[in-house]
Amino acid sequence: VAARLIAVAVPVPALDLLTYRVPELLPTPVAGARVVVPLGKRTLTGVVVGEADQPAADVTLKDILRILDETAFLPADVLQLTEWVSDYYLAGPGATLAAAMPPHALTNRVDAFRNVRLVTLTAEGHDVAARTAIGPRCAPDAALPHLGTRQREVLAILQGSPDGLDSAALTAHGISAAVVSRLKVMGLATIRQERRDRDPFASGSAALTPTARDLDRVLTPEQQDALQQLRLMAQARRFQVALLHGVTGSGKTEVYLQLAEEVRNAGRGVLMLVPEIALTPAVAAAFRQRFGSGVAIQHSGLSDGERHDQWHRIRRGDVDVVIGTRSAIFVPLAKPGLIVVDEEHDTSYKQEDTPRYHGRDVAVMRGKFAGALVVLGSATPAMESFYNARHDRYTAITLTRRVLDRAMADVRVVDMREEMAEEGPDVILSRALREALHARLEKKEQTLVLLNRRGYAAAVFCRQCGATIDCPNCSVSLTVHRAGPNWRARCHYCNFARLVPQTCANCAAPYLERVGFGTERVEAEIASLFPGARIGRVDRDSVRRRGSLTEALNRFGRGELDVLVGTQMIAKGHDFPKVTLVGVISADVGLGLADFRAAERTFQLLTQVAGRAGRGVHLGEAIIQTLFPEHYSITLACAQDYPTFYAKEIEYRHAMRYPPVIAMINVVVRGRTYEAAMQGAADLASRTSAHANPSLGRFVILGPAPAPLTKLRGEHRAQFFLKGTSRAGMRHAVREALKELPEIARKASVDVDPLSVL
Ligand code: ADP
Ligand code: ZN
Repeated sequence: VAARLIAVAVPVPALDLLTYRVPELLPTPVAGARVVVPLGKRTLTGVVVGEADQPAADVTLKDILRILDETAFLPADVLQLTEWVSDYYLAGPGATLAAAMPPHALTNRVDAFRNVRLVTLTAEGHDVAARTAIGPRCAPDAALPHLGTRQREVLAILQGSPDGLDSAALTAHGISAAVVSRLKVMGLATIRQERRDRDPFASGSAALTPTARDLDRVLTPEQQDALQQLRLMAQARRFQVALLHGVTGSGKTEVYLQLAEEVRNAGRGVLMLVPEIALTPAVAAAFRQRFGSGVAIQHSGLSDGERHDQWHRIRRGDVDVVIGTRSAIFVPLAKPGLIVVDEEHDTSYKQEDTPRYHGRDVAVMRGKFAGALVVLGSATPAMESFYNARHDRYTAITLTRRVLDRAMADVRVVDMREEMAEEGPDVILSRALREALHARLEKKEQTLVLLNRRGYAAAVFCRQCGATIDCPNCSVSLTVHRAGPNWRARCHYCNFARLVPQTCANCAAPYLERVGFGTERVEAEIASLFPGARIGRVDRDSVRRRGSLTEALNRFGRGELDVLVGTQMIAKGHDFPKVTLVGVISADVGLGLADFRAAERTFQLLTQVAGRAGRGVHLGEAIIQTLFPEHYSITLACAQDYPTFYAKEIEYRHAMRYPPVIAMINVVVRGRTYEAAMQGAADLASRTSAHANPSLGRFVILGPAPAPLTKLRGEHRAQFFLKGTSRAGMRHAVREALKELPEIARKASVDVDPLSVL
């Protein structure tokens, strides 16, 4: 009999599929099942991908040790999707499978992450009841001779709870597990185990304050048209992509909801991706309100246990609507008929670790495999998506007006060069913004203030010798944060931190000065200008603790804060009807970056944040401070003119040969020294170009060159780019080069369709 061979993906980076034998005593595991396998001296849990071919004769194969699942843990379509992801993004199959799995499904701690077992203890039926009932007539000791006092007390407590007590209640009564099991052994009590899923909506991980809304809102004519077009597409029951381009406040969520309901009623599943659940509370709350417990959520803000339970609810088929962040695209939802990607332009859809996938692009593939309608929604579509719509790959559907004829915010630009000439170089809030803020505080209306840079000051420098305090591990200067009475300097890449010293480490002069400013400083500035104002701040530093972001947003939503200062986090998807003023402190923060997407990012951020103003009954106003008032990303964001922005930007992308006009792959090679990194990158680049295959399409290689962040977490970095029209040819060449240079491959990260090239 020929040996049965299977291909297994194990969660080890850069490792290809491995071949194992199934020993005689075990059945052949199905594709998608988890198996325990030996690897070197280790034992690992992997996933069966399928049958394997007999390898070259001289290879000795090992046996699998155990089969964990009789049926597929990952359904076939999800397995197919992960295969596509590892192929397209040049990531190891194991790393990709790990990304698709619920927490700990591939660790040896599987058992610890079974759902919480609810121990229910009931006094053993009639028996105890009868004995207790005769209690008054006989001495208890005679009825139950061998019981201790505590055991008798516990029985009495149980008697009063005919439905039993769960483990939490037992703990509350101070009843230990030992007493319970003694009673069980004596046949006086039973223990029942029930699965009780941890509910993130109840625990606070996703406790969103839903905005009051009626379920059957009358759609505006524009919303109706959009819904009708989408409905027809969904009814066709085949793969199609719609780009729903709707200005901020045009009511896209309402359209998704009604469409989702129809798809679900037609017996198919709905998958909705949002960039970050806490940042799109209106969407999550609206889905929960409409679909109740039939909706599962999946995102990284949940505890591992909650995520695990939600995942298993989906896999059991208990839910037909899933809302989640990018990794939710891999959930085992049966028969998806609709996949919505809300705020599809958002960069948080891109995973910045291997596999470096883009949630939106994976969503499109999942739709393709499932024969589903994919809806990409945004007020500021990604250049890629609009380009696809222009080239008839996607169907564009447009919402040009806000609901209820609300006006777009009135946008004013303040030229900070003039402001500085008048007010001095240290001015943070312009006179216009100060006045407008003052007026809002008087009228009890709310204000959002955006500065896309966190910390108190951007850097510390010595006025005598010009030295800055730099990170010892990364090629950046440290950002200054306030830490009680002290100043702390911290690296935003590796988190290295130190107190700011009194004197310069370089020249010993006591003239250290803080330069530049971030959100902490803006918060302090507003507090000192308006002592009575209630101010909150939202940035990565202020929301470290789980749930604190939701909490801050909810407080603002309930009107307990007058002003919310924050980074781009405050620009996303929120619907705060009492906000009538949006201030942008330095609109051009992103324009200084060596990134071909800088203008696109700036345009998106400004358009989105200006769109947060005036979403209620009052008119909205936005004040945008900048040093480059004539830059097209700023002027066109002020005019909320997406089509003109796209036209200008695509011209630039054509001229410079940048995506979406061509495709790009970025390869970064790390090294212990600068020379090692550069040499590794040069070797990999030359092998890559040796594998160019004109029949698969041409490409060019740019570099190698030091990466903009030449040092990161103690390692030096060099990079090169591939640019071309055929991803297949480019991927082929990189894949072959990595295979030939396994040493360098271990130090390389490959980014297909990179979003950030720093
Ligand atoms: P978008 O996501 O397009 O920016 P939202 O979906 O957040 O817009 O909708 C903006 C606001 O308008 C929300 O408060 C929403 O509840 C409300 N809204 C949406 N559709 C309607 C409608 N047809 N009638 C009244 N209010 C609506
Ligand atoms: Zn650092």
